[in-house]
Amino acid sequence: MRNIKYIAVHCTATAQTATVENIQKYWREHLGWQMPGYHFIIKANGEIAHLLDIEKVSNGVKGFNSETINISYIGGVDSKNNAKDTRTPEQKATLLKLLREMKNKFPKAIIQGHRDFPNVAKACPSFDAKNEYKNL
Ligand SMILES: [Zn+2]
Repeated sequence: MRNIKYIAVHCTATAQTATVENIQKYWREHLGWQMPGYHFIIKANGEIAHLLDIEKVSNGVKGFNSETINISYIGGVDSKNNAKDTRTPEQKATLLKLLREMKNKFPKAIIQGHRDFPNVAKACPSFDAKNEYKNL
């Protein structure tokens, strides 16, 4: 198993209605990625799309991916593309459950938002994940 040091929380920075298929297509065709950006994506209805085995490396946080599990919710911007916490109650519930599971598997891993990594100039995931999940 990889040495997991971080569990990173992301938003897709898309409308909440964006589909997992379109997001994957963007990664492949516009960014040229072979691997998905995240291991898990949480849809607006709270459903999880499990895109990649956690033993494999995804593309969520530049420079940290080999030691990170990446989890994202769909959304994170308002209609003008400004950062906004758009998590639905269902997404919040699923995110909490999934983070608990991952923290149980990797008790030493630090849960934080993408923006909490060094030299990140993004607002992702549009809320203070580090503070919200500090007691997990
Ligand atoms: Zn991110």
